[in-house]
Amino acid sequence: MIVGIPKEIKNNESRVSMTPAGVYEMIKNNHTVYVQSTAGEGSGFFDNDYKKAGAIIVNTIEEVYAIAELIVKVKEPIELEYDLVREGQVLFTYFHFASSKPLTNAMIKAKAICIAYETVEDQDGTLPLLTPMSEVAGRLAIQQGAKYLEKPVKGRGVLLGGVPGVAPGKVLVLGAGVVGIQAAKMAAGLGAHVTIMDINMKRLRYVNDVMPPHVVTEFSNEFNIRKHIKTHDLIIGGVLLKGAKAPNLITRDMLKEMRPGTVIVDVAVDQGGCVETTRPTTHEDPIYIIDDVVHYTVANMPGAVPYTSTVALTNVTLPYALQLARHGWEKACSQNPSLEKGLNIISGKVVYKEINEAFGWSS
Ligand code: NAD
Repeated sequence: MIVGIPKEIKNNESRVSMTPAGVYEMIKNNHTVYVQSTAGEGSGFFDNDYKKAGAIIVNTIEEVYAIAELIVKVKEPIELEYDLVREGQVLFTYFHFASSKPLTNAMIKAKAICIAYETVEDQDGTLPLLTPMSEVAGRLAIQQGAKYLEKPVKGRGVLLGGVPGVAPGKVLVLGAGVVGIQAAKMAAGLGAHVTIMDINMKRLRYVNDVMPPHVVTEFSNEFNIRKHIKTHDLIIGGVLLKGAKAPNLITRDMLKEMRPGTVIVDVAVDQGGCVETTRPTTHEDPIYIIDDVVHYTVANMPGAVPYTSTVALTNVTLPYALQLARHGWEKACSQNPSLEKGLNIISGKVVYKEINEAFGWSS
């Protein structure tokens, strides 16, 4: 099959959908890969790396869309790309259709086959193509939180690991899912005292089993949260209610109970955040302060570390892309129920229930 890797043109997107290692695998399996020139540069992969792996480099995005049967991307196509998508072309990428009617209508009109990373789902209900980005965001949350605890950026002036003779900083993690566990692990690695909360006892039992003794689990409720925000230096929001807005576990009035310079990193910002005062920010202007509490609420945290994010994402997308290239989308999806769940639009018809529901369309 002919596979196309366009350069991501969405604002501030430096990731690329396939590394030279992925191209090498594709070529080994007798596929042809067209890569748009400079597509990998933002992630540290250069045209020469792709050429050496066997790719054909083309100069324009138009050339990639014109020739490829399977387009593998990172982000949804933006308006400039809508008319480039061809009838019957398979697009494999993050789409998030329910949040954009214009995009949905454009892909319906294009009569393409749209397979969305975010709805590929394993039998246990986990989302394998979202997990790596939560892993990146969870780990990064501690890196960013540690930075904003420094005094020159209005933090409390606390070193998370402490030093001999000085107690370590305290980190409160809300949610013991993918983000929460990765954050707790990083904070514990720095030597911080960590309290991690969830309403799911299975998760808390798991955390209790695998984490060192300075990571303490506690059931998540308002009483316990109010108690801990007074003494913790860094608070990480990693809560998710599937398909719903995150609950406001930290309300506006609670900020006054925190010490000045406390830092909140609300990773759940992309689902509305689990802090009432959360609003999305960007990497250019990542923080704001309310009641002396620093809020870090970047909606696409993995974008700060495109090399790591690209490799983490392509590690999990490549096996599916190889199946699509080998068998074509129909056979690949019928053989792999997880991939089948990724089917959102087929030749002009929305086949994913939640997208139809989001727009009040009948299925
Ligand atoms: P997850 O499903 O693995 O974990 C969420 C956890 O929250 C679950 O364990 C659940 O039991 C728990 N939870 C639900 N209600 C709770 C409550 N009241 N108190 C405490 N815990 C509660 O999800 P995840 O992959 O860890 O993602 C967490 C959030 O981070 C999601 O909103 C996700 O979209 C977001 N995210 C953001 C970025 C970013 O760049 N900002 C990147 C990746 C993920």
